Amino acid sequence: MTFRALESNVTYVITSPCIDVRDQSCVDVCPVDCIHFEEDLDRMLYIDPDECIDCGACEPACPVSAIFAEDDVPASEQAFIPINRVWYQDRDQARREVETAHG
Ligand code: SF4
Ligand code: SF4
Repeated sequence: MTFRALESNVTYVITSPCIDVRDQSCVDVCPVDCIHFEEDLDRMLYIDPDECIDCGACEPACPVSAIFAEDDVPASEQAFIPINRVWYQDRDQARREVETAHG
């Protein structure tokens, strides 16, 4: 187990306002390059919860306020907490879940 895993389980999460915006302002400010997507396949971006260092730099950079600390994700956006993680394990599954959560 890594020190980081022992230290914290909290991460930052991208939620539905990112869908179809994808301007990548968050990518520009992330110091550990842990925000990713596939340009032709994804409607939003995803934060890698295992790489995120919880610095918070991305949150104010987002023009549509799509990024929250995991503990602050609004009730209506809770589905996006697992979606960010799932994308790093099964991208197609995450895309299906985005469509379901987005309605
Ligand atoms: S909180 Fe920091 S490390 Fe995590 S995704 Fe945002 S900018 Fe990157
Ligand atoms: S800054 Fe916000 S809208 Fe832009 S890609 Fe990142 S999460 Fe999506």
